[in-house]
Amino acid sequence: MVIDLHTHSRHSDGTDTPGELVAAAAAAGVRVVALTDHDAATGWDEADRAGREHGVTVVPGIELSCRWRGVSVHLLGYLFDPQDVALLAETGRARRHRVTRIEQMAQALADAGWPVSVAQVHAQAGAGATLGRPHLADALVAAGVYPDREAAFADVLHGNSRFYVGHYAPDVVAAVAMLRAAGGVPVMAHPFAAARGTVVGDDAIEAMVRAGLLGLEVDHRDHDAAAVARGERLCDRWGLLRTGASDYHGRGKPNRLGERTTDPAVLTELVAAGTGSPLLGAPLPSPG
Ligand code: AMP
Ligand code: FE
Ligand code: FE
Ligand code: ZN
Repeated sequence: MVIDLHTHSRHSDGTDTPGELVAAAAAAGVRVVALTDHDAATGWDEADRAGREHGVTVVPGIELSCRWRGVSVHLLGYLFDPQDVALLAETGRARRHRVTRIEQMAQALADAGWPVSVAQVHAQAGAGATLGRPHLADALVAAGVYPDREAAFADVLHGNSRFYVGHYAPDVVAAVAMLRAAGGVPVMAHPFAAARGTVVGDDAIEAMVRAGLLGLEVDHRDHDAAAVARGERLCDRWGLLRTGASDYHGRGKPNRLGERTTDPAVLTELVAAGTGSPLLGAPLPSPG
């Protein structure tokens, strides 16, 4: 049974609708897929319908952009209550500030002579989607400045670029506790992906574990062998669930559905720990 617990749709910076994503999962032989849009749970209903149609179980999820002492950390959350007031307040705040910050970046680029406008960036994103640098990248690609998102990220969209503007992101320890309070299962996304920037130390993992962290996304394409070994060691040390996933973004990244997977026994534990929402889509196959 192929299980992929990290994907993005047009509700954030993926290029597939949730329905297209679930259909693509079925076509790729993925039996269980988690929809984990950045700071948004708005794609769950469509993924649920598509899952029933295509025989795919959908784990409802999210990827929260957080911080640990100024370092960017991504936190996956599964099976939480999507109506939880505290979580909705945090994701709403993040999403609103993401709009302001992308508009600031787009305007600064336009002022410096790049062929891009705030309106063109909005036109790249789905209505109500969580806005991110990938949508600004898509506008620059559409204008012929770069061949793909990757090239835009290597240049003007890089975190070290003079055009870079940060956005509000909650403290990751508080976010772990908030997800647990909403019945969710917090799993740290690609924890040791050095190419993405500074990687946190073991003290951050310990603080998150004490707040209720339940898993680490050990198997991810951005992890080299040393990162995987470090993740395995920390899972053993703290009794954390070891997950694996593709971080699929449709045409936005080379990542393919099912390229990294999670063990069925880990999924069973994850589902048992999540009490805020049921599984969506098709029912899980009965064991044996
Ligand atoms: P943001 O959260 O708006 O700062 O943008 C970060 C997002 O951009 C991440 O979630 C990634 O999905 C995406 N991203 C980061 N680096 C790249 C890259 N080199 N190519 C394509 N997408 C990227
Ligand atoms: Fe993304
Ligand atoms: Fe991420
Ligand atoms: Zn992701």
